[in-house]
Amino acid sequence: MSTCIECKKEFDGRSNRKFCSISCKNKFHNYRNREKESTVVEINKILHKNWITLHKLYDVYRSSPISMDVAEAYGYNKKYFTHIHNSPVGEKYTMIYDLGFKNHIDNKIQIILME
Ligand SMILES: [Zn+2]
Repeated sequence: MSTCIECKKEFDGRSNRKFCSISCKNKFHNYRNREKESTVVEINKILHKNWITLHKLYDVYRSSPISMDVAEAYGYNKKYFTHIHNSPVGEKYTMIYDLGFKNHIDNKIQIILME
């Protein structure tokens, strides 16, 4: 006898089978996929908020260097960004979609709008 990991019922079958039926197998995997998708949705929300926040900061400060603390006070979450852009002159930009910033050594950032 084996125990189904979805419905917990006992069933006859090879001992390496984890599910009593195709339906239990599907339920189990659909649930796992939904959990993974909700993680993606959460991260997308943070990225979107970061993008909005950088736009607000850009409207106020343009490309003047500002402290990362100021950005964080506006709601920027520095753990999340979409990619790193390396400019032809060797400068590194942290990007949120089309908007990015250059890091200065004094914890200041300089926002750049990519055209
Ligand atoms: Zn089952």
